[in-house]
Amino acid sequence: MTAGFTPPEPQAVAALQDIAGTGGWRAGTDMARYFEDPRGRFTGQATLVLLPDTVETVAKIVRYCCAQKIGIIPYSGGTGVVAGQLSPYSPHAVIVSLERMNKVREVSVEDGVLVAEAGCILQDIHSRAELENMIFPLSMASKGSCCIGGNLATNAGGIQVLRHGNARDLCLGVEAVLPDGSILHELSPLRKNNTGYDLRHLLIGSEGTLGIITAASLVLKPQDPETVTVFCAIRDHSDGVKLYKELRASLGESLSAFELMSGFGVDLVRNHFPKLPAPFAEKHSWHLLLQFDGPTGLNDKVEEVLGRMFEESLLVDAVVAQSETQSEDLWALRENTPEANRMEGAFCSSDTSVPIRRIGHFVNETNEALRDIHAGLRINTYGHIGDGNIHHNVFAPEGTTKGDFIQAHPEIIDAVRMAINEVTHQNGGSISAEHGIGRLKAADLESYASSAKQKALRSIKNALDPFNIMNPGALIR
Ligand SMILES: Cc1cc2nc3c(=O)[nH]c(=O)nc-3n(C[C@H](O)[C@H](O)[C@H](O)COP(=O)(O)OP(=O)(O)OC[C@H]3O[C@@H](n4cnc5c(N)ncnc54)[C@H](O)[C@@H]3O)c2cc1C
Repeated sequence: MTAGFTPPEPQAVAALQDIAGTGGWRAGTDMARYFEDPRGRFTGQATLVLLPDTVETVAKIVRYCCAQKIGIIPYSGGTGVVAGQLSPYSPHAVIVSLERMNKVREVSVEDGVLVAEAGCILQDIHSRAELENMIFPLSMASKGSCCIGGNLATNAGGIQVLRHGNARDLCLGVEAVLPDGSILHELSPLRKNNTGYDLRHLLIGSEGTLGIITAASLVLKPQDPETVTVFCAIRDHSDGVKLYKELRASLGESLSAFELMSGFGVDLVRNHFPKLPAPFAEKHSWHLLLQFDGPTGLNDKVEEVLGRMFEESLLVDAVVAQSETQSEDLWALRENTPEANRMEGAFCSSDTSVPIRRIGHFVNETNEALRDIHAGLRINTYGHIGDGNIHHNVFAPEGTTKGDFIQAHPEIIDAVRMAINEVTHQNGGSISAEHGIGRLKAADLESYASSAKQKALRSIKNALDPFNIMNPGALIR
C-alpha cells in the first residue's frame, strides 16, 4: 500500500474550491480547529478543508481527487481519539468535513427509523428521536460534539452497548461516496435484506478508508416508561463481574449500562469538577454506575434485587437516584471521566476489551505489568464491564508533571501501551474495543492481527480504493 498524500497543485486546490462553492471551503488559519486532537497528543495538518453540503458535491470532490490521486481525510465531529481524522505527518491532506450535511431527512415511527445526514451531532439525533417518544440509544461522553458519520465510521460503542449494541447494530443502511466518486444509495429501512455482500457493514468501522458516509438510516426504539440509576460501592472489581452476572440473571435486558469506576477515578473527577456531589460520605475503592430501563414498577424490582445483593455481601453501599437531577449528577461522574483524565495529564488512555470472565485477571495483570514498568505510575481503571471494555488511563507519579516525567522516561508511552496490549492479547482480547485503529494503532494492528486478516483487509482496500486516496495511512499503513 502506498501511504501518503500527493501534494495538490495550486490549480487542483482552486478546482476543489470551485467544486465546493462559496462558503464551502476553508484555508490558512481558518483550518486550525480541524487540527486539534481531543487528547492533545497530535496536531493535524492540511492543504484545504472542504465543506460540501450535498452528497452530489461530495461525489464531485471525490471523483476529482481520484483522478488527481489526492488524499482525502473524511471528518465529522473531530472527537476521534486514535488520530484517524488527523494528518500529523503530512501537510498535503484535503479534509472533507461533513458538518454542513447536518439535516435529519426523515423520521418514520412505523418503521422505527430516522434518516440522518453524516454531520448530525449525536445529541441532536437524541433530541429529535425524543420528540417522537423514541430513543436512539447510541450514547457516549462526546455526544455533544461527535457526529453520526464519525460514529458509524468508527463503529462507536459507549455506555449502552450492553443492551442496544454498537453503532453497527443501530444502523440499517447508509448512503456513501465510494473512492471512485460513485454514490452508494442504501438508505434502507429494512430489517431483512439479504442481497449479497452487506456494504453497509463494510463501511461501518472502516474509519474513512473505504468511502465517505454521507447519511444513514438509524434504528429508533420506544422509550421505556421507567429508568432507574444506581451508584454502588463494591469491595473489588471482581465483585463487579459477579454482580453483573447476578443482575443480568435477575433483571435481564432491563440492565442497560454497567460502568466500573475506581475510587481513584471518582476522586479525580471530583477534584477537577468540585461542584459534583460525592455519591457517598465514605470513600470506597471501587464503584459501579448502573442504569436500568423498563416497564412501570421496575424501580421496586431493582431495589428488591439490590437488597439481595447486600445480603450476599456483593454490595457495600448503594444510592438509587430519586430524581432526574440526581441521576444526571451520578452520570456526570462517569461522563466527565475522560475530561478529568485529560486535565490530570494522562499520557496513555487504553481502549482494549477482553471476555467478561477474564476482566478480574485482566485488571490485576495490567496493574502489575504497569507497576513493573514504573512503581509510581498512577492508574485510573474504568469502563464498560458488560462489554469487557476496561480503559486504563495512566499518569505520572504524584508530584511529577507529565512533561517532566516523559522527558525523563522517553520510552514510557510506548512501553505502557505495549504492556496493556500484551496483557489484553494474553487474555484473549482485542487491542481496540471501541475507538478504532486510526493512525495511533495501525502498527499495533500489524502485530496482533493474523496474516489472513491482514491480507483480506488489504485486498478489500485495494479493490475499492486502488489509488489509496481514502484516509491514507489510517487503519492500514
Ligand atoms: C470525551 C470523549 C469521550 C469519548 N467516549 C467514547 C465512548 O464512550 N465510546 C466510543 O466509542 N468512543 C468514544 N470517544 C471517541 C469518539 O467520540 C468516537 O470515536 C466518535 O465516534 C467519533 O466521531 P466523530 O464524529 O468525532 O468522528 P471524527 O473524529 O471526525 O472521525 C473519526 C474517524 O472516522 C472517520 N470519519 C469521520 N466522518 C466520516 C464519514 N462521514 N465517513 C467516513 N469516515 C468518516 C475519520 O476519518 C476518522 O478516521 C470519546 C471521545 C471523547 C473526546
